[in-house]
Amino acid sequence: KQPVAIIGAGIGGIATAVRLALAGHRVTVFEAQESFGGKMHQLELPGGYRFDGGPSLFTLPHLVDELFQLAGRNPQDYFRYQRLDPITQYFFPDGTHLTAWADEERFAAEVEQKLNVPAPAVREFLGRSRRAYEATADTFLQKSLHKAKTYLSPDVLKALSALPTLGLTSTMHQRHQEAFPREPRLVQLFDRFATYNGSDPYQAPATLSLIPHLEHGLGAFYPEGGIYAIAESLVKLASELGVQFRYQEPVVEILTAGPRVTGVRTTQDVYDMSLVVSNMDVVPTYRRLLPGRPAPERTLRQPRSSSALIFYWGIGRRFSELGVHNIFFSDDYKREFDAIFQQKTIADDPTVYINITSGHSPADAPPGHENWFVMVNVPHDQGQDWPTLVQRTRQAVLSRLSYALGTNIEPLIRAEHVWDPPGIELRTSSFGGALYGSSSNNTLAAFLRHPNFSRQIDGLYFCGGSVHPGGGIPLCLLSARIVSDLIATGK
Ligand code: FAD
Repeated sequence: KQPVAIIGAGIGGIATAVRLALAGHRVTVFEAQESFGGKMHQLELPGGYRFDGGPSLFTLPHLVDELFQLAGRNPQDYFRYQRLDPITQYFFPDGTHLTAWADEERFAAEVEQKLNVPAPAVREFLGRSRRAYEATADTFLQKSLHKAKTYLSPDVLKALSALPTLGLTSTMHQRHQEAFPREPRLVQLFDRFATYNGSDPYQAPATLSLIPHLEHGLGAFYPEGGIYAIAESLVKLASELGVQFRYQEPVVEILTAGPRVTGVRTTQDVYDMSLVVSNMDVVPTYRRLLPGRPAPERTLRQPRSSSALIFYWGIGRRFSELGVHNIFFSDDYKREFDAIFQQKTIADDPTVYINITSGHSPADAPPGHENWFVMVNVPHDQGQDWPTLVQRTRQAVLSRLSYALGTNIEPLIRAEHVWDPPGIELRTSSFGGALYGSSSNNTLAAFLRHPNFSRQIDGLYFCGGSVHPGGGIPLCLLSARIVSDLIATGK
């Protein structure tokens, strides 16, 4: 029954707060911004448009349900969602339009019809993705990789021994090319899954070809009220469990005495705490909140994931060919990723993703209108000339979309807001505005992420997308589970 401070009300911080409150701790969440959610915030634009600010794709919803169930609540009283079908609309530069149906048979048939790849080859690939997921996910995502006892479990040893056969020496792109040697469009479609954790398919190990299973096997889901409803419903639960949320109160220092954490200093006060969990990105946690303490430099130097440039557009028309998730592929995927990860810039003609929620949540746009979240993958901030890149990319996006949809898009924009990597860093403190902490381009990335605990300071823990097991909503939720398990077992 210890007083615990959580630094940040991102999804990882909120989930940790729920778990620690359920374990009987007195939990206070300090949040720098005026409200919760971090990257998972929402915004409204004049004219009646609502947008989810960051994440748009939701997988593994049972990880949210689990928190309500642990509290003895019925999840549906707080949070409802439905399985998406179709999942994604893909538009290729040659005019091909492919629908990714949730049902595997139907998706394989669509690929056969539109891309001329035999359906059994698609099913075989998805089966392999499932087997890779099942062989590794429990080990690499659900446990601390930084505790010796993890490696004593037979399951873990089995997963580690499976790794080489799952592809440590080849890249995701090579794996997809081997699977579909004659169909570059299908290779591009599956390569895109590298972006789900901000990585480059031409560098990331083939092991990551397990990601398609998340969406095609386990399903993509749409929460009623949008993704923001995840954070909102969990804050409601946390508040009912007695968690205190203190907004606009950034933590400026983690206080220690010798090897132990003793509390936090905020812009307003000093608080004595037995445990501190940082949901702030691990790099600024060390640089800003623990000045003078030795930092794990090698870990902090791991390459960052990609970031994003997002145009939030209120659009004065409806497009029946568009769904919740829409992809407009570029002509040259290799050049696009080279631009991001080698040249640290944005390709002239990037792939464009559009998320539209107003089809499922009509209140998100006025009747006859749509709310377009238009995103391209970009490098994290390293001092690039963002105003110029934003203007250039805006034009490229408008021409690709206008061409693909056969309509001049610019005159349809009724409201606009832009979020770029420096803006993402400013709002969330994520180092360089990276979306997913460190990238998974390196074979050993899973082992090189920061652990969920401090090796030097007792009572200091870490959750969220910049630490183990990584970024994205499900992994942030799992980081909360690992932190609460570590605390419960007395590490
Ligand atoms: P964050 O969201 O990073 O929040 C950290 C919080 O800590 C912030 O609220 C910040 O204000 C606060 N904070 C920082 N410093 C302090 C301090 N000193 N004191 C107090 N508070 C502080 N994931 C998916 O699963 N699917 C997607 O489709 C997807 N798309 C994305 C698209 C975009 C544009 C973005 C930005 C992210 C996307 N992600 C996606 C990633 C996902 O949003 C993140 O991995 C996840 O939300 C990060 O949560 P977190 O717990 O790490 O906290």
